[in-house]
Amino acid sequence: MQKLTIKKGYRFRMAGAPADDLIVLPAPARVAVLPERVPHIKPRLLVKKGDQVQIGSPLFEDKRNPRFKFLSPGGGTIHDISFGPRRVIQAIVIDRKETPEPETRFQAVTENQLAQIERQELVDRILDGGMWWAFRELPFRDLPAPDGEPPFILISLNAKEPFQPSPAVYLKDQEQLLAYGLKALNVLAPGKVRVFADASESSVIEKAGQWLTHVVSGNYPCDDPATVLYRIKSDASQNRAWFVAGQDLLALAHLLREGRYPIRRVVAVAGSAAPDRRHCHIRLGAPLSQMVEDARLHGGERFVVGGLFRGYSSDSDGYVGFYETAVNVVPEGGEPEFLALFNPGVSRPSYSRTFLSRLNPKALVYNCNMHGDLRACIACMHCADVCPVDLLPQMIYKSILAEEVEEYLELGLLDCVECGLCSYVCPSKIELSRTFIATKAAYAKEQAVKPD
Ligand code: SF4
Ligand code: SF4
Repeated sequence: MQKLTIKKGYRFRMAGAPADDLIVLPAPARVAVLPERVPHIKPRLLVKKGDQVQIGSPLFEDKRNPRFKFLSPGGGTIHDISFGPRRVIQAIVIDRKETPEPETRFQAVTENQLAQIERQELVDRILDGGMWWAFRELPFRDLPAPDGEPPFILISLNAKEPFQPSPAVYLKDQEQLLAYGLKALNVLAPGKVRVFADASESSVIEKAGQWLTHVVSGNYPCDDPATVLYRIKSDASQNRAWFVAGQDLLALAHLLREGRYPIRRVVAVAGSAAPDRRHCHIRLGAPLSQMVEDARLHGGERFVVGGLFRGYSSDSDGYVGFYETAVNVVPEGGEPEFLALFNPGVSRPSYSRTFLSRLNPKALVYNCNMHGDLRACIACMHCADVCPVDLLPQMIYKSILAEEVEEYLELGLLDCVECGLCSYVCPSKIELSRTFIATKAAYAKEQAVKPD
């Protein structure tokens, strides 16, 4: 087991962490899948309003590769299919049939069969079982081509982005499933599976046992697969590594071992404005209103689904997508402050040393207030100071604005792990990371990108 220390990044002292207890919520009357939240794909609908579906029925496929299918987390009737601008498919909503909920069964793979199964057969089982979405390929975080063997498959058991589910909670009593999942990954990429956990999580390190290859120390986003890859790769041929999130690996293992489409998800409900901060065991695709009741909010809150730095804003009538495992409820902020100019900012979160909060050891309340508009870059270098992969974000940003493709590639845009820290620390409110993500996506779309 190797030790990795990532020196850059940022340690947040943020109020609103979820408690470690796990509440099992009942299956909701309605669930949904959100095609627009799966990056890069071009969805083609396979159902229409009023159709009857089972748990595990295909709802849509990716036009780029029809073998990438996305299955229903509920059995019942298609209640609605909502579209956004330019006919983007936003949500496929399913009214669940109460008991017995119809379910499609798949062929299970026993532990013994797993030891002998051919790679191609396992790939076919995962594709047919609608779980290929669990794999994503760096640097674009797109679904990988099934026929190629990756240089690494990276598994991060933690997620240091505030506030993702604690691995001690979602891995509880799941050790055997985790071990099975890791054996399955070893069939796909023998000897190339890299499993890492945060050095502070001793119970997780113990659970992962013999499978753990790296223990990572540092601040957010030291445990991101792309950050780890940046440290462990030996040459550019390893850039196109795959990664699987800890909970997605459990879901994949469940599909293969039980022959049933996985519908279990542990979601952290957190944020300083959340009425109950806890872990919830939910049905995949559950409505946000099941986790946070509107009646218990005071008004002036924002829902951030999927993580405070990589997630997206939603109304309380939204749903949890395939990849999201956190729902944060954050105050909007922006209320007028009495004599704000004379406030030393003891409780005001800030990366800079302007405020006395730097000396305050307590967890601070973050809100959505930007405290000002976009301004010109002042070359303060805060963005470069926190970048975990040693980029110069302000230089990349300028190259993107100048449409200097060669230059921003040379400056390492494709190494960006999309952590959002540079945007957070920028005193000029420049949306660096969002620009980088959009530019990477446009590059992935327009070019036949080859490993460099
Ligand atoms: S450029 Fe910004 S978003 Fe990308 S890795 Fe660096 S800090 Fe994170
Ligand atoms: S943090 Fe913002 S203002 Fe400072 S160098 Fe980076 S882009 Fe410029």
